[in-house]
Amino acid sequence: MEELKMEKIVNYCKQYGFVFPGSDIYDGFANTWDFGPLGVELKNNVKRCWWKRFVQEDKDTYGVDAGILMNPRVWEASGHVASFSDPKMDCKKCKQRFRADNMIEEHSKGEVAAEGMTNEEMEKYIEDNHITCPHCGGFDWSEIKQFKLMFETSRGTVEGSKDTVYLRPETCQGEYVNFLNVQRTTRAKVPFAIAQIGKSFRNEITPGNFLFRTIEFEQMELQKFCKDSDSMDIYNNYKERALLFAKNIGLDEDKLRFHDHDKLAHYAKAACDIQYKFPIGWEELNGIHHRGTWDLSRHTEFSGKSLEYLDPETNEKYIPTVIEYSIGADRLTLALLCNSYEEQTLENGETREVMHFNPAIAPYKACVLPLIKKNHSEKALELFNMLSKYFMVSYDESGSIGKRYRRNDAVGTPFSITVDDETLNNNTVTIRDRDTMEQITLPVDEVVDYINKKIQF
Ligand code: ATP
Repeated sequence: MEELKMEKIVNYCKQYGFVFPGSDIYDGFANTWDFGPLGVELKNNVKRCWWKRFVQEDKDTYGVDAGILMNPRVWEASGHVASFSDPKMDCKKCKQRFRADNMIEEHSKGEVAAEGMTNEEMEKYIEDNHITCPHCGGFDWSEIKQFKLMFETSRGTVEGSKDTVYLRPETCQGEYVNFLNVQRTTRAKVPFAIAQIGKSFRNEITPGNFLFRTIEFEQMELQKFCKDSDSMDIYNNYKERALLFAKNIGLDEDKLRFHDHDKLAHYAKAACDIQYKFPIGWEELNGIHHRGTWDLSRHTEFSGKSLEYLDPETNEKYIPTVIEYSIGADRLTLALLCNSYEEQTLENGETREVMHFNPAIAPYKACVLPLIKKNHSEKALELFNMLSKYFMVSYDESGSIGKRYRRNDAVGTPFSITVDDETLNNNTVTIRDRDTMEQITLPVDEVVDYINKKIQF
């Protein structure tokens, strides 16, 4: 089978209304994207599935929805103000900007970990290895400078007095600052987790590859607060749960792998990504990090409020260790689009585009199709009105039935429901399966149950 190119997915998304370039009528705004009618359903379903698996089905996990703008002291405590930056260098010939660490890692095929190198060491490596500009092939680099990744804005109530505030570059600080609030109100006992889904913003040096790396994106993540002695078991457990979730939601097992980090932050005991084989190669899909007591200790220090936990059974007081699991909603949506897309040649030689989404994430669960508009549309609309009370359904009465099936296949609608004379006479409909293209007949009053069972996650 021909290898899928990212460009194909970008064009597909634009054509069918999944994702449009941001500010499209102004010729776009680099690396911003807007989700269209199908994309918003898809991404919402992805978020719902994640929340169900990690919050709803886990009695020790509680959700929050914290503000994007936080007290700037939060970002001092987290270390972002001082050190959330990447090493950038510019090609003096073509003026393109690159991340020096990424270039070194790509050049060495992952053998050299640039993360721990100083700017001078990176400059020397690039010089010694004659790494040329990936864009123009030139070899005329600017010196490496640290590039700040936090977007700044200001808040001022009195003219002339402005305070710098930041758009959050990660959501997890919202959980740390609410650790006590959540623990007190839920009466949770350690180990427990706080989860959140929300927007983050990063002034990335080299955004790109469609939804893979953008400057505004959504994260789905949780922080598990635990005893240090339990932390490695919990860490390993989240690695397995994260992998299982990626498979369950629809990613192929052979396109997923663990990537354990060799270099760790000074406070961390372990860190691992799950990588997915995107059309651009193996890349990080999510991270699982053992963060020690760093986060709560720093917030204790900077806020002056003790974030210690008192164990009600042993009376022991301690700052919990944190295990973090974080996955980008947009990046996962991109992986699912790539994984589900197929240009299929059928037995009769015809081709069709089909999106094999897991029915749980498909934008529309079913499409109602009157076989002949003039005879069947009234009954079909009745069915649409009934089904749409339970899940997202589309309605299509234009073109031949074959063409309408193809359109549903292309946007990943798992069930096409045809209303015909049998429906008028016996109250039965034909349901066609997107993947097998097989058809069954069902009484109208069994349709909701049938589809509900198929879309469970
Ligand atoms: P990367 O190394 O790709 O920059 P990271 O290690 O900085 O990612 P984390 O801070 O651990 O990423 O963020 C958790 C998750 O958020 C990532 O695994 C990814 O799915 C998502 N994510 C991070 N940055 C972006 C971005 N710029 N655009 C889209 N998704 C992102």
